[in-house]
Amino acid sequence: MNKRGLILVISGFSGVGKGTVVRRLMEAHENYALSVSVTTRPPREGEVHGKDYFFISEEEFSSMEAEGRLMEWAGYVGRHYGTPRDYVFKKLEEGKDMILEIEVQGALQIKEKYPEAILVFVAPPSAATLKERLLKRGTESAEQVEKRLFRAVEESEAMESYDYLLVNDDLETCMEELHRLMQCEHRKMRVSRELIREIKTDLKRFVEGES
Ligand code: 5GP
Repeated sequence: MNKRGLILVISGFSGVGKGTVVRRLMEAHENYALSVSVTTRPPREGEVHGKDYFFISEEEFSSMEAEGRLMEWAGYVGRHYGTPRDYVFKKLEEGKDMILEIEVQGALQIKEKYPEAILVFVAPPSAATLKERLLKRGTESAEQVEKRLFRAVEESEAMESYDYLLVNDDLETCMEELHRLMQCEHRKMRVSRELIREIKTDLKRFVEGES
């Protein structure tokens, strides 16, 4: 049986609550691990280095990229973000489903390099709800909120390249839906190649008279 984990990419407009959905998913169900990205943006209040992000300088970011240590990377509102490769692959080999909570440019790079990755876009029930949530969050300046809304317009253009769309109206519903979806992905024939091969070989052996 193929025990290798799957890559789950989650994107969604800033303020849609995808971080909360991911946190709940990991609390409620074992077998998920979260990739911790590197970023050149400064930490927000309460964010922890190594947990929320690895906060690094532009120079460090450039050398990681040049050395091929990032699975993907993108610029977002004037800063750089990237997914370190080693940790993700280590966890996949351990059988964990790896969650990459990244923006759309990075997600599309992942799909190209790793076609078996599952891309999920989390949307708000409406654009008005999104704006309201962004303003309420209060962690960004009015100018940053504006930039994030502009970015949402761009991101909405890429939504249709994703495999699934989830609406985050109710947190628990959204999280459980995501989990069910992943369970189905594990049942896909292409994910179970090793088991299929094993069953076929054994069946042939049986009809050829071996036990
Ligand atoms: P924030 O500054 O709000 O933490 O993140 C801004 C955006 O960058 C979010 O859409 C987030 O999902 C995305 N992001 C976080 N880490 C990565 C990463 O490693 N790669 C890419 N491409 N986007 C990321």
